Amino acid sequence: MLVHQILKSKGDDAVITVTPDTRVSDAAGVLAERRIGGLVVSQDGTTADGIVSERDIVRSLALRGNSCLTETVEQIMTRNPVCCSREDSSDAVLSRMTDGRFRHMPVVEDGKLVGIVTIGDMVKARLMELSMEKDALEGMIMGH
Ligand code: AMP
Repeated sequence: MLVHQILKSKGDDAVITVTPDTRVSDAAGVLAERRIGGLVVSQDGTTADGIVSERDIVRSLALRGNSCLTETVEQIMTRNPVCCSREDSSDAVLSRMTDGRFRHMPVVEDGKLVGIVTIGDMVKARLMELSMEKDALEGMIMGH
């Protein structure tokens, strides 16, 4: 399955972004409110300048305590995140996520943000593919 098919099945929702000067506490609020684990950080709302995930916030809390909550996401985000294109396969994206040990990946086209996919989306797509392959093989064996 290709990334654009996965984005379509998710409803092609707009990507939730925050600007680099957003306070960490406000970013945590957005994560909680939207029930998501990562946010793309973008100055203009169209380029993926960075990514901040719940892990970055937890790590900062453990290392520096509550004071990190008044810092900006720019101070704790991962810069220049690994991105994928709409034409990438779920297998390729899943491999890059597994190798890089992260669960979120912005989707870009011509340098512009067009979506975000998570490891959960990739696993779901892979399971669907495997189920369809199984059905097709069973059909062949049974002569349907
Ligand atoms: P996650 O598993 O996505 O919550 O992120 C784990 C760590 O990887 C955090 O430090 C994130 O900032 C970072 N990270 C998340 N997504 C990406 C990405 N696409 N490229 C590079 N780093 C990332």
